[in-house]
Amino acid sequence: MSERVVRLIEEDEPDGLRLAPGHVLLRTLEVGVCGTDREIAAFAYGSAPAGTDRLVLGHEALAEVVRTGAGVARVRPGDLVVPTVRRPCNRIECPACRVGYQDFCTTGQFVERGISGAGGFMTELFVEEERYLVPVPPTVGELGVLVEPLSVAAKAFAQLDAILARLPWDKDRAQALVLGAGPIGVLTAMGLVVKGYRTVVFSREPDDDDRAQIVHSIGADYVSSESTDIHGLASRMGRFDVIVEAVGVPEFAFRTLPALAVNGTFILTGVPAPRPEFGFDGAGLMHNFVMQNQVMFGTVNADHASYEAAVRMLEQCLVRFPDAVRRVIARRVALDEAPALLRAAGGGVKTVIQIGEASTKARDGGLPAPGRSAAQSASARARER
Ligand code: BGC
Repeated sequence: MSERVVRLIEEDEPDGLRLAPGHVLLRTLEVGVCGTDREIAAFAYGSAPAGTDRLVLGHEALAEVVRTGAGVARVRPGDLVVPTVRRPCNRIECPACRVGYQDFCTTGQFVERGISGAGGFMTELFVEEERYLVPVPPTVGELGVLVEPLSVAAKAFAQLDAILARLPWDKDRAQALVLGAGPIGVLTAMGLVVKGYRTVVFSREPDDDDRAQIVHSIGADYVSSESTDIHGLASRMGRFDVIVEAVGVPEFAFRTLPALAVNGTFILTGVPAPRPEFGFDGAGLMHNFVMQNQVMFGTVNADHASYEAAVRMLEQCLVRFPDAVRRVIARRVALDEAPALLRAAGGGVKTVIQIGEASTKARDGGLPAPGRSAAQSASARARER
């Protein structure tokens, strides 16, 4: 069996002088770490690019444009951008990938940078096609590293809006429940508050946890599942028009179904690791979903428009509650610490790996200040099983 290890490696720098048309050379500034990265580092998920035995990790990135190839028009050196994660399959019969909606790929043969079949962004320099880059305005700056996780919420909201179009009346007093206070849960709660929902985050951390404080500071409620059960919560607050699951624990998620309101929408975003089956009241679920016109849907990844929506949502959050948004990033660490961080258990809000220094556009007109040399160039990689 091949060696399974997560470590820093030396790699050749991409050739920034010979960029193919439409391609961009980028310097990674920061990469966020999430549960998916930890699963990949534990060899429970993910795959290396075809024909190789290693995968460069990292899919939540903020990068700076270093150089552009011919025909690149939307981004210029010095611009901040976020690369999207998923790349389309090449099958002609996939209607989603053919029109740029690879998040809805029908063949399953897509690749995801840093996750499955394509190298990620936990590296000093990388090359990407312009069409997969989302510009980040200076107002968002370094918080752009939150755009990818927020794009998951933005896509969920776009789907929710489409579903709510079936109820053509005023829904002003809607209330929402978010399950889980991890980064996606907290960012989703921020998005819901910005959208005008009365929002409650329900999670197992105690009521005085840091995350509970962040939730309170955005004007949402935090309720610990250790002190209140879902029935107590629903009888106190009423049922919820929207429940967004952001924790990946089915027993916890499905126990909250009785708290879903008539005509309510239940959104699943967590990807659970395999676990034993558990008992479930199928008849009750079916009865309620039918008799109360309820909807449940799962959502993964995001299309380009949802990334753009995430950037706008982040801008709005920064106006409404700037300190809370900054507190979502609990810790910034150096690239050298990446392997240990990836092997450690998750928890808390977001940890971000700092990789490169941003240049200032004042150094304009040419390349940003030189980065570290090729000999020091390093990427975190996981050797495929
Ligand atoms: C990423 C998504 C990806 C999903 C499944 C998540 O952690 O944010 O972009 O599609 O994992 O691989």
